[in-house]
Formats: sequence, C-alpha cells, structure tokens
Amino acid sequence: MANYKLMIPGPVDVEDEVLSEMASPVPAHYGDEWMKIYLETVNCLKRVFQTENDLFIMGGPGSAALDASFGSLLATGEKVLIPSNGFFGRRLRAMARGYGLKVVPLDFPLEQAISAPAVEAHLQKEKDIQAVAVVHHETSTGILNPLSEIAAVTNKAGVPIIVDAVASLGGVPLLVDEWGIDLCVTVPNKCLAAPPGISLISISQRAWGIIESKSDRSHGWYLNLQTWRQYATEWASWHPYPTTMATNNVLALLASLKRLLTEGLETRYAKTAKAAEMTREGLTDMGFEMFVEGPHASPLLTAAKGRPDMSIAEMARFLRNECGIMIGGGLDELAGKIFRVGHMGRAISPEYIEAFLAGVRDFLQRKGLEAGQGAG
Ligand SMILES: *Cc1c(COP(=O)(O)O)cnc(C)c1O
Repeated sequence: MANYKLMIPGPVDVEDEVLSEMASPVPAHYGDEWMKIYLETVNCLKRVFQTENDLFIMGGPGSAALDASFGSLLATGEKVLIPSNGFFGRRLRAMARGYGLKVVPLDFPLEQAISAPAVEAHLQKEKDIQAVAVVHHETSTGILNPLSEIAAVTNKAGVPIIVDAVASLGGVPLLVDEWGIDLCVTVPNKCLAAPPGISLISISQRAWGIIESKSDRSHGWYLNLQTWRQYATEWASWHPYPTTMATNNVLALLASLKRLLTEGLETRYAKTAKAAEMTREGLTDMGFEMFVEGPHASPLLTAAKGRPDMSIAEMARFLRNECGIMIGGGLDELAGKIFRVGHMGRAISPEYIEAFLAGVRDFLQRKGLEAGQGAG
C-alpha cells in the first residue's frame, strides 16, 4: 500500500509517536496496569470535551456511538427533529429511522448553516418532539453549524440534544458542559489525530435520567448505553466496559491527546484556522472559488468549486499519482462539482499545505491552464 499524504476529511495522517503505539505489544484490556492507562485516556478526553459527564470509549466507527445515542435515548415511534444541510445530516436521519424513530426533517440549503431560530420555531410548533440531533461540522460541504446557538434553543425547550461532533471536536471550540450537550460523539481519526477504530461519547445527567425512564423500551445490548453504564459501575475497578477494548487504539489516542493538551487547545484551534486560511488564499490566487463563504465556513475543511476549464477527478488523480497527496471529492449531488481538503491531523502543517498548493499549480500548468486570478 503506497504512503500518501492524507488531506481528506478523515481518516488523517498521525504523528509517528502516535502511530508507533499501534505496534506496541497488545495489552490485555483489564487489570491494574491497563486501568491506569484507560482512566488517564478518559480524563484527557474529558478535558478536550470540556465536560464532567460520563464518557465511554466504544469499539467501532463514529456511527457506533451515534447509533447508541439514538437507540438508548429514544423508544421506537418517538419523534426526533433532525435539521440538516448535507450528507451527514441525512445520515443521522437514516440512523434514527434504523431504530424505528419518527424523523421530523428540517432542511437547509447546502450552502447555508442550520438556523437556531428555525429550530426553535419548530420546537414551539411541534410539542411532542423527544430529541434533536444535529451535525456540528457538516463535512460534506465545510459548514460549521452554530452549535452553541442550537443547543441554547433545545435547552430552553427542555429537549435533549444529540451531537455528531465527529469532525469537529478537538479542532474548534466545543464546550459540552457549558453549551449543554447531552450526547456528544466524536472519533480519534479526525481532529484528534489518531488512527480509526474507536468511538467516543459523553452522556449528560439529563440524558441518563431519560434513558433510565425508558429502560424497558430501549434497543440492543452492545450499543445500549445502559449496558455500558452497568459495566462502568459493577466492574469499575478492573473492566469498566462490557466487551474487549481496542487497547492499541486507546494507547495511540492517549499519545495524541497528550500532544494536544501539552500544545493547548487554543493553540491547536489557531493552527487549524491558519491552515484553512493558507489553503483558501492559495486556491483563490489560482482562480478557485470557495463553496461556502462567510462566518459559517469551517476552519476544519476547505471545500472549493472546480474551475469550469478543468476536471476535479483529473486533478485529484494527478495529486495522488504525481504528488502522493489524497484529497476528497464531492458527495452525492456535489460529486464532480467540489473538492474538499481537510485541516485535521498532520494536514494542518504548512509543509502539507505548501505541497498541496504546489501540486495544484503544477496540475494547472501541465494542462496549459492559467494559474491566476480570473482564470477560466
Ligand atoms: C466522518 C464523519 C462521520 C462518519 O463517521 P464514521 O466513523 O465513519 O462512522 C460522521 N459524521 C461526520 C460529520 C463525519 O465527518
């Protein structure tokens, strides 16, 4: 397998010292020595989530913990409001339907952020909505939805909120306790800069109260948060989860979290924002237009429109084959129309961004296209 610079919106390239943990001898997932490492990882995560809520590390992709959120918090037939402005918002709806929930959709155009006042108006109109689920960073378009404002209206209405923070937590401010996020889900393999394989979830006291009140109607066993709570309590001292833990993934995540916390969250957020700025300036200078403009353009990802005189697929192939760089394309209705460059993991380093911009310039030149403003 060739070694590419990953500039896709996850999984991301990780530092060597993080990667080397994947090659350390496999630790058993219980016992004193392991428990120290596990608890330290959970504590580091709580600092990044900025929460004192319970927090679990579950084997599986981000979708596992999102599934667990829907299936544990809501009973079959209950209504969940899912505002959406893209692919991952629609994915949340598919998950909710998978648990037999009644999805109440609220659609926004792809180029627009989800509006908190619109969510509030809907909650006032339809009184029997049991939860709201929302994507923080809509990775299909590079929009950072205004989560603090959305959570403020769900909290005002007394409705719990499930947040897909898969592609935001660790790269932009997300204050789980201060904003009142009931279920917050992320993964190591995006802004937390570690390999994929585990899913991270925090659960508020309010969410626990609701989950307990529905215990006779909840779904499943492994992805049921009640199972996780039971083991976190009954087996707390040696094995606080129901199944085998992906121990090497936890080691790698801990190494990455230590780097992040030593560097400081604010420093990482600033580096991420700087990476986005460099990328956008470089692309704009070469005649590209951004897919989203304004305050909701996410610093975690640059989505740019293709120039009318070129093919995005061809450019992506060139970057991969000639420069060893992988970027993302458009999903669904945006296929062939936009390309996406992630600002997560090692891709936020100036070295990666310079290599990417040089690659794009090279591509345009070899195609005989003008790499300047107003070109095309
Ligand atoms: C990457 C991504 C996902 C997918 O997560 P999996 O780990 O593949 O389940 C979900 N939501 C958003 C916003 C993402 O960017």
